[in-house]
Amino acid sequence: MTAFWTEPDFDDHEVVHFVHDEKRGLTAIIALHSTHLGPAAGGTRFWHYEDPGAAMRDALRLSRGMSYKNAMAGLPMGGGKAVILADEQRRKTPEMLAAFGEAVNGLGGKYVTAEDVGITVEDMVAVNQQTDYVSGLPVDEGEAGGNPGPFTALGIYLGIKAAVQHKLGRDSVEGVHVSLQGVGSVGGGVARLLAKDGARLTLSDIREDNAASLGEELGADVVSPDAIMAVGCDVFSPNALGAILNEEGIAKLDCAIVAGGANNQLARPENGTMLAERGILYAPDYVINAGGIVSVTMEYLCRRDNAPCDINEVRRRIALIPDRLTKIWQDSEAQASSPDRVADAMAQELIGRR
Ligand code: NAD
Repeated sequence: MTAFWTEPDFDDHEVVHFVHDEKRGLTAIIALHSTHLGPAAGGTRFWHYEDPGAAMRDALRLSRGMSYKNAMAGLPMGGGKAVILADEQRRKTPEMLAAFGEAVNGLGGKYVTAEDVGITVEDMVAVNQQTDYVSGLPVDEGEAGGNPGPFTALGIYLGIKAAVQHKLGRDSVEGVHVSLQGVGSVGGGVARLLAKDGARLTLSDIREDNAASLGEELGADVVSPDAIMAVGCDVFSPNALGAILNEEGIAKLDCAIVAGGANNQLARPENGTMLAERGILYAPDYVINAGGIVSVTMEYLCRRDNAPCDINEVRRRIALIPDRLTKIWQDSEAQASSPDRVADAMAQELIGRR
């Protein structure tokens, strides 16, 4: 058996915690990649995995992504991530969330959690019963924090506009064709913002009813999940799960730009180069999808330090995403290196790993 810390995904994690509480039905992994810039911050995913190895790989890759994301967003936080291994029915119980909250609390503030796929604001409120190292809690109107989805969507919308400007030389997304894979919290928000600007949209979701009703609301086309990656469009926006940009997926693409919120879109590092070789402009996922972590981090820091929490400060920071992306694309062209590699090098520098 190969030790997982010799796997490339381990990438020098500072510490990885396994939590197993048989009685309360909790099996979880809490991976802390780096605390170089501050406490490791990153959401909790609740997901059914084929096997524990897949859960470990997901936790490690997501955790490293959070180190890079927080560093690139200029936040005083390190990177970590938790995954709770769900059963096939994805049953969640208050006891399980309480056990998870205790585990987070036991880390004494080295890890700060929030929502990710499968975890709601209500779940975070339950976790908060056991620990203060939580963010993404309900907040008052006009304050930073709460559900990170809309803030993530805002950053992606601005990032798509920057990509359209950089690659297509167009100042507006009016008439630009964007196909979206996944129209949940993030993808649905991106679609609504783009629709307001007159973009032409094609939507897809495995929850086909959700895609159909959003399609009707926005006047967008809807295609099956199998067809979305091959839709001829200007921008393909992945907002479901990761690793879709593998050899097979990239071969299907018929677009000029890939820009979306899903974490870990590239199945392997070399897939970024494949996209560049096909002439497709890629927005590194952890740069474009940082809006949510900006918001929940501001919320956490405000609560911790008893400071006021102005939502405008969150918006100001999210508005920096387009320039950050443009700098990456410019450096990528100057260095003849793919945008993901350029971004990785910048992030590694920031967390003291280069
Ligand atoms: P969500 O669960 O609300 O939405 C995901 C949607 O994708 C669901 O509607 C689901 O049915 C759909 N989906 C799953 N597999 C699909 C497939 N193969 N084809 C089409 N649709 C599919 O989750 P979310 O919060 O919108 O997050 C979406 C992605 O963005 C995830 O990768 C998440 O890690 C990432 N992300 C989310 C945030 C956030 O603030 N919520 C922040 C950063 C990154």
